[in-house]
Amino acid sequence: MPIISIEGVSKRFVKSVDLAGKVANLLGADNREQVVRAVDDVTLDIVEGEVLGLVGESGCGKSTLGRMVAGIMNPSAGTIRYRGEDVSKLEGARRREADLAVQMIFQDPMASLNPRLRVEDIVGEAPLVHGLIDAAHKRDYVAETLIRVGLDPAVMGRYPHQFSGGQRARIGIARALAVKPKVLVCDEAVAALDVSIQAQVLNLFMKLSKEMNLTYLFVSHDLGVIRHIADRVAVMYLGRVVELAPTDELYAAPNHPYTQALLAEAPRIEVRKKRFASIKGEIPSPLAPPPGCHFHPRCPHAMPVCREGRPPLLSVGDDHVSACRLNETTASLAATG
Ligand code: SF4
Repeated sequence: MPIISIEGVSKRFVKSVDLAGKVANLLGADNREQVVRAVDDVTLDIVEGEVLGLVGESGCGKSTLGRMVAGIMNPSAGTIRYRGEDVSKLEGARRREADLAVQMIFQDPMASLNPRLRVEDIVGEAPLVHGLIDAAHKRDYVAETLIRVGLDPAVMGRYPHQFSGGQRARIGIARALAVKPKVLVCDEAVAALDVSIQAQVLNLFMKLSKEMNLTYLFVSHDLGVIRHIADRVAVMYLGRVVELAPTDELYAAPNHPYTQALLAEAPRIEVRKKRFASIKGEIPSPLAPPPGCHFHPRCPHAMPVCREGRPPLLSVGDDHVSACRLNETTASLAATG
């Protein structure tokens, strides 16, 4: 059974008509509320112990999906299950267990750490409040957690501004680990760090994954980072998952034209550079996504059928699915002949 199941999950944000728009409507204008489908009917399982990478351009909905998995945001539709149970329907101790089991690590540790709290309280507060430790053992527990993330326990009396970016990232990780989570949702967790520090923090994530049997949903726009850390990768475009595959397969044989274009643009993946055309044009407005396959205005292979209906995710290999009409054409050609 997957540890997290995302079933038909959508998130809509409604932009209502402001005062100026309402006044303009009185004068004959036709301003209406606008709906952004930040996440559009996504179904995805996260298997216990794996690192699932979630990639896509800025605004594709990957962070919103991560926040819903972490329980920070509620879905507009669909279900998120933890170990098979619908989290929104759990109550009492079961709900608390599910909430604590999934923790989020943010991009900017400075913004997410309370500047007025010492590290001892930043790391020790949540386990104390949730009854995982008692006050007498707080210092020992915090010390143990800091050692786990590679920090000297002697720093527990300091404030966040007294640390470097890499150390603050480790404090953020220690805070998440302190409530004994099973799943970490990392939202661009190393994006703000220098490359050498990025590598150290990624190695820490991998070490913790083995030591604590953690499962990760690793959200990043950086295909180099995802290739380094993920077991499987889901590629998102304008709110939808368009391809999902084991990491090695996705990088060796990307199926979806959007994935191919993303890999062509990734600066650290030299081998891909000349094999695929880079992405043409701007990402369309999520307020008015193109009909059918959202990628069709930018796709070099677009066909008339691509403008009609959402392409289904079809199997294109072992544990590899892709939502592209070209696969239907290939399948029907194979069937006829
Ligand atoms: Fe391109 Fe059509 Fe495939 Fe979309 S469905 S990626 S437009 S070929």
